[in-house]
This record gives sequence, structure tokens and C-alpha cells, in this order.
Amino acid sequence: MTNLHQRYQTIKTKIESLTANNRPTPRLLAVSKRHPASAIKEVFDAGHDYFAENYVQELEGKVVELSHLPIRWSFIGRLQSNKIKKLVKVSDEIQTVASEKHARLIAQAAASENKSRFPIFISVNAGNEANKDGLPMSNIDSFAKFVTTELPQLSLQGLMAIPPASYNDEAFPGLVELYQDLRNLADNTGAGLLSLGMSNDMALAIRHGTDILRVGTAVFGPRQA
Ligand SMILES: *Cc1c(COP(=O)(O)O)cnc(C)c1O
Repeated sequence: MTNLHQRYQTIKTKIESLTANNRPTPRLLAVSKRHPASAIKEVFDAGHDYFAENYVQELEGKVVELSHLPIRWSFIGRLQSNKIKKLVKVSDEIQTVASEKHARLIAQAAASENKSRFPIFISVNAGNEANKDGLPMSNIDSFAKFVTTELPQLSLQGLMAIPPASYNDEAFPGLVELYQDLRNLADNTGAGLLSLGMSNDMALAIRHGTDILRVGTAVFGPRQA
């Protein structure tokens, strides 16, 4: 067993043990940004096929390098209009949709790539932070309605959220309410999936019923600069 293989098994066991008996185990999305294709291959060989990248060019390179493996590629980075066509071509879902313009461009690309109905998540700026992308929680309902009524080329999966870093402190005021609000909002968005929780707040996100955990560092170790 390789070192990465062991790390992967440890995380899988940890997720199982943190999940309550009456709940489904959240799905692990392994965030491989700034790790080499060889590392992804190792985790794939350990039995994993769901990976996420943040940069279109980096994703493109890895898709080519690992084209022989049946990997499901998720995109969780910042969207740029001029790269959306290429992104839809090489990815299997996009979790960071927060504008009508980007949603329309993804829908157009999905149609021309024969990838309808292309899975997307709406990204939520849960803490209303100025430096973060994502829609405020109050805009989610109307945006979801727009996607489901106007863009049949898309398949709305649910919500993706990155809560403020201060919420990693479980004693932070309002934290339980925020996670509960996100869960409720996700339940009413598209297919009802919630993508919440990273290496640092895995336990918290599992406790609040996340469906997808996006974990980078805890699987692959520290990222290269
Ligand atoms: C990088 C990244 C992650 C993974 O973060 P870790 O702390 O390494 O687990 C999760 N979600 C998003 C949106 C990211 O950009």
C-alpha cells in the first residue's frame, strides 16, 4: 500500500465513523488541484473516481494525461466566461455557478458538446464575504427557478458553499443556524444536494447533513506552491 493509498483509506474510515447510523455516508470529492496526475492515479487505484480541479488549464492537462481512467471530473474554481466552452468539454460537472451569464454559457456549450443535461451546482456566499464569489442565500430561490425554467440543457444538482473560515471554530455564534439554513436551502434547490465541508470542517459538515465533502489536503497532503 502506498502512502497516499493509506491516507485515502484513513479519510474514508473517518467519514464513515463521523456519519450517524441513520444517515447516508457523504460522497468524497477528492480535490486534486496542484497535485500531479500521478497522485490522482494512486488515489484512483485505491478505488476512487471522483476528483475536482480549480483551474481550467490544469484540469485540461490532467484529463489528457489520465484519459485512460474513467474519472468523473468536477470543477470547483472561479469561472471565466472565455474558458467556459473548453471547461464544459473537459469536465463532468461545475459546482461554482453564480451568474445568469455563466449559466447561459454553460448551457450553450453543453448543447454544442452533446452534454445536455450538464450537472451544475449554484455556489452560495454563505457568509456574505466581499472577497468570495457566490450568490447570497436570499437570491438562491430565484436563481434556481431561472436555471430550471430557462436552461433545460442544465441539470441543477443543488448548492455548493464555502462558509467563512471563522466558522471552523465550532463555537462561532450563528454557526449551527447557518449550516442548518444551508441544508434547508439545498433541499429546495434542484436535486437537493449540498456540497459543503473541506479538510478543516469535515466533521461539522457531516454532522449537518452534507451530501458531498470536497477534501484536498486531508487526502493528498499539502499542495505545491
Ligand atoms: C481547494 C478547495 C477545497 C479543498 O480544500 P482543503 O482544505 O485542501 O480540503 C475545497 N473546496 C474548494 C472550493 C476549494 O477551492
